[in-house]
Amino acid sequence: MAYRSTDIVSRAQWGARETKESDHMGTPVKIVFIHHTAGQHSTTQEEGGRISRGIQNFHMDDRQWADIGYNFLVDEGGHVYEARGWDRVGAHTKGWNAMSVAFSVMGNFEETKPDVRALEAVQGMIQLGIDKGKISKDYKLYGHRDVGQTACPGENLYKIVRTWENYSEEKPKK
Ligand SMILES: [Zn+2]
Repeated sequence: MAYRSTDIVSRAQWGARETKESDHMGTPVKIVFIHHTAGQHSTTQEEGGRISRGIQNFHMDDRQWADIGYNFLVDEGGHVYEARGWDRVGAHTKGWNAMSVAFSVMGNFEETKPDVRALEAVQGMIQLGIDKGKISKDYKLYGHRDVGQTACPGENLYKIVRTWENYSEEKPKK
């Protein structure tokens, strides 16, 4: 499924707070990470917006980060929410933030299987990133747990990501 930039729920649309200082990211990036939020699931833009605001508050107020950590959030209705976007370094995958884009699916996929709409949205966004020159055509795809001590993106989502084109069994190189 083709995604267009206009399909993305903008920060203004979901009521994001203004970002603090955050670094510009050089693109295209060669690495894409898949995460889950390990929190609430959503299928509607209203719910997804509420969840995004909650995560942003947690990341900015408790974690003291400049903004919500991920580059984009995705829900199981297929909605995509702009977080740091394509061009700003996120806070999602320790050691890899400055050279990767992170998509995080709302929900906990240790317990449940992700809806196909979320999967299509992530894949559509990767293709959009390639089309826009933000993601390298020969990018490598990983789950968060491939480079960190975490269950993220949850066993059920991780199993699917491992079957996708560009998933790499080889650990990423800097
Ligand atoms: Zn993660």
